[in-house]
Amino acid sequence: MDLIALAVPFFLLALVVELIIDRLRGTGLYRANDAINSLSAGILSTTFGYFTRLLPLLAWGFVLRNFALIDMPLTWFDASARGIALWVTAAVLWDLCYYWFHRFSHEISILWAAHAVHHQSEDYNLSTALRQTSTGFLFSWIFYLPLFLIGFPLEVLVIVNAVNLIYQFWVHTQVVRRMGVLDRILVTPSNHRVHHAQNERYIDKNYGGIFILWDRMFGTFEDERDDDAVIFGVRKPLANWNPFWANLQVYDYLLFDARRAKRWRDKLGIWFRRTGWRPTDVEARYPKSRVDLAHFEKFDPSVSGGLQAYVLAQFAVAIVVALLIAESFARQGAATVLIPCLLLWAQLYTLGSLNEQRPNADMLELLRLLFVNGVGVLLLQRYGIATGAVFWSVCGVYTFASLAGLGLLKSTSKQSLINITSSE
Ligand SMILES: [Zn+2]
Ligand SMILES: [Zn+2]
Repeated sequence: MDLIALAVPFFLLALVVELIIDRLRGTGLYRANDAINSLSAGILSTTFGYFTRLLPLLAWGFVLRNFALIDMPLTWFDASARGIALWVTAAVLWDLCYYWFHRFSHEISILWAAHAVHHQSEDYNLSTALRQTSTGFLFSWIFYLPLFLIGFPLEVLVIVNAVNLIYQFWVHTQVVRRMGVLDRILVTPSNHRVHHAQNERYIDKNYGGIFILWDRMFGTFEDERDDDAVIFGVRKPLANWNPFWANLQVYDYLLFDARRAKRWRDKLGIWFRRTGWRPTDVEARYPKSRVDLAHFEKFDPSVSGGLQAYVLAQFAVAIVVALLIAESFARQGAATVLIPCLLLWAQLYTLGSLNEQRPNADMLELLRLLFVNGVGVLLLQRYGIATGAVFWSVCGVYTFASLAGLGLLKSTSKQSLINITSSE
């Protein structure tokens, strides 16, 4: 049973409720382009995870089988007092491991490269919660190995992990302000807003997952202050809507410096040094300007109402496709969802390009639509007229409606999609 997959409909429902509250109050917490980028990163992370999630499970299973100190049968985790105590112990210890994983994810460059995705949004709402990395599988599992060394069953820790992640969803909101004493015990919207800030005072603070007590214990707690309003985002802004680049940006920065560093010690060491550290020779030749928070402006290229409607409609299709892929993955595994995932990823990429009004965005979208139509024809050939015709019709109707939408945009907008000049 995949608890996180079960929670997704509730996540989406909560997001819609927050969006309605925002619109009614006129608080401007949501921008369509930023929310689409965050949700695209979330869809990318989930679907990419279909092909990578085995790695941590295999590593954990191996450690548990060969090195566990205590043999804890699953039957110990029942509804008795001992069973409940064991569940609570596992959940608290997992949260402690999460604290250190999260802290290192900010403090060590290569781990920050994976985690930065979650922090790039310059808004803060429930869509930010779903903005997750696609490369976290590389190292995150290492931080939980102590629990497998102790001997907690894999089945228990998988559930505990899911509960920990699900808990963290709701704290990504500005609708809830302060929660009194709870702000001092649990991770709450207020103290997690601090964690997403780029203000000097708030940087590298409040790493907890469920309990903020860890931060108070290890000296990384900072309270949200009325006289220092949180500025969300990262010091080196993403400044585009490409969900793939969101995952690669910090790796690219590190690779840039590693290639130009003269000493091998620096070329290798840069990946494991404190986040922000640069080799002195590279720093001297390629200095980076510091961000001026006093004049901070969100990345927000404007688009026409028609284009925004087109992108929103396409993104709604992408969400439906992602849900269908999730369903198919649950039934048949990763191999059957590879091609649908590739099509979905192409869609997320082109939607980001359209929102940025990149010069080639329209051509990419046209090519993508023609490709989808081609897939429809292939499915017709593969499954025959009885079943294949359904796939073919869906692909055909979708392509035709999308092409009609693009054509309408072109004819009604002075700012033509075709051959539009980049604002850069
Ligand atoms: Zn973080
Ligand atoms: Zn967060």
